[in-house]
Amino acid sequence: MADAYMGKILKVDLGSGVIEEESIPDSVYEKFLSGSGLGGFILYNRIPAGADPLGPDNIMGFVSGLLTGTGSLFTGRWMAMAKSPLTGGYGESNCGGNLSPAIKRCGYDGIFFSGISEKPVYLYISGAKAELKDASDLWGKDAIETENILLERHSSGRKPRVACIGQAGERLSLIAGISNDLGRMAARSGLGAVMGAKRLKAIVLGGSKKIASHDKDAMKALSAGCNKWVQFQPWFLSGNGLRFLGMILRYLPFQTAMDGMLFKIMLTKWGTVSLNQYSIEIGDSPVKNWAGSNLDFPKALSDSIGPDRIKARETAKYHCYSCPLGCGGICSGPSLAGETHKPEYETVTALGALLLNNDLESLFLLNDKLNRAGMDTISAGVTAAFAFECFEKGILTEKETDGLKLKWGDSRALVSLIDKMIAREGIGDILADGVKRAAEKIGKNADCYAMHSGGQELSMHDARFDPGFGLHYTTEPTPGRHTIGSQMYYEMYRLWKRVPGLSRPWLVYSKKSKYRVNRKKILWAVACSRFINVLNGAGGCAFGAFIGVDRFPVFEWLNAATGWNRTPLDYMAVGKRIQAMKQAFNLKHGLDPASIRPNPRAVGSPPAEKGANKGRDLDLDKMVADYWSESGWNTKTGVPGADTAADFTNV
Ligand code: SF4
Repeated sequence: MADAYMGKILKVDLGSGVIEEESIPDSVYEKFLSGSGLGGFILYNRIPAGADPLGPDNIMGFVSGLLTGTGSLFTGRWMAMAKSPLTGGYGESNCGGNLSPAIKRCGYDGIFFSGISEKPVYLYISGAKAELKDASDLWGKDAIETENILLERHSSGRKPRVACIGQAGERLSLIAGISNDLGRMAARSGLGAVMGAKRLKAIVLGGSKKIASHDKDAMKALSAGCNKWVQFQPWFLSGNGLRFLGMILRYLPFQTAMDGMLFKIMLTKWGTVSLNQYSIEIGDSPVKNWAGSNLDFPKALSDSIGPDRIKARETAKYHCYSCPLGCGGICSGPSLAGETHKPEYETVTALGALLLNNDLESLFLLNDKLNRAGMDTISAGVTAAFAFECFEKGILTEKETDGLKLKWGDSRALVSLIDKMIAREGIGDILADGVKRAAEKIGKNADCYAMHSGGQELSMHDARFDPGFGLHYTTEPTPGRHTIGSQMYYEMYRLWKRVPGLSRPWLVYSKKSKYRVNRKKILWAVACSRFINVLNGAGGCAFGAFIGVDRFPVFEWLNAATGWNRTPLDYMAVGKRIQAMKQAFNLKHGLDPASIRPNPRAVGSPPAEKGANKGRDLDLDKMVADYWSESGWNTKTGVPGADTAADFTNV
């Protein structure tokens, strides 16, 4: 067995209560790494076709990254995966915090749950013992309360790490996520509902096993080299300067390739909220349920939610495990009972610009409420914006909303609506399952305003600004997520510096050229998909990788940690295999990849009549067919080549 991984998983059958270890052959790690590769492998091979996502046959995994604990940086991400109740296909969510090393310290690369428990339980691992404990007293409690109680209860010995659900997961909201580190969320794919259906309230991991690394000196040297780039932090603009920069860039007919060092500097200073106003100005942030533009949320409105305003509330920086940057923060404020995680850009935009809401206090409050309930802030914001637009169009009236007047920008109505969603009360019961289900139940052409792709609410990056987002929202086995690729991501990953055959983007290019489909850009998108599957197998943070693979040496770390001697091209082939396996999972479960498209509004159909993205549309059908072709998949059906299926089972 190579160093870096533990070579074992823990399997927990919640129906029978049987807990057993299983050794995983080296060949699985060689072909799929750990993280989402290992998790995808288990799910693909062991969940029967057609399994009910909320039934006993679904398998829910918590998997660590292959590089976690090896001395590499930015590699503390863990992944949850299961068949998604939201999309009906492969579901995955990726989260920071401190759970990833805790999984390995229990002696496992992953913990997988099947079956359904008769009563609420949590898994507790301490030393060599793994046991299911009664969680009846925790059922009904929010995620923060639950974690604090469990930390207190198991405080003797090494501090355990906890992942748990709040009330949203218990109530089987299909947009429920999983919380760890007191409010960091594995939010996407509705996996909190899978835990709720299994009556699994939490996992509490208190192991103390060592995590090995093959060549410690090499790991140290690689990490020191990376850290030099991370520590480079010149004086930078004010938050208002960022907004101004976005405005200037909007007016220019050309743009420059993005160097991720610029984003790193912004992340270090403000975190992801550095994008709050910049992205509105430049056309990256969707506004007013994707029907508006920067003109609907001008400086006069957005100033109150600018990066400096949020930064002013930060009492301490927050770092995930092994992260030298620390884009997170701990905040307090008048609307909050205690301290809370700083809201992310995605949260602020989904509950802010998307609803024309510039009430900063409401954003802190909603972030805290949703984190406590364990509900995805992106999906909650997108679903609320859908309801607001339905109200504007007369599809929903005060009769259906129990008297709530859903007027754009009304933060009190928004807070009340989110409260109803969390409680599954009245209209909230319909909205708690996300925008696709809500549109189906409401009818009256409400689906025109439901901004999702394949059932997953779209993230806060506009495909009319960066067409790469539109392509990945459509073609990924987990559609609708912003964490996989875009043209800008390719520019930042700098893969051409390490992977032979990949081209360097133009340093300066006309904005119009972004919307022309050509082979080069499709190859970049395919490369992003493969690379992110490597990164998710390694447990790496995309924000670290954004500084470029020549500065963030993920391929070299993988070799030094394991003792393997593989080229970046070898690793990209692994990424290709993992992505194809997830696509094969979806096909096995009856999804038709050719039918998955984001809401047309999100890709410029019809084109916006004003604002930063005026007149832009995407030839998505051609982009998808070309992407599948370059992936080696059928250009009409999205089915991976015939040789690939054996690759997922023969190890
Ligand atoms: S950059 Fe941010 S999200 Fe990434 S590991 Fe560091 S603190 Fe976590």
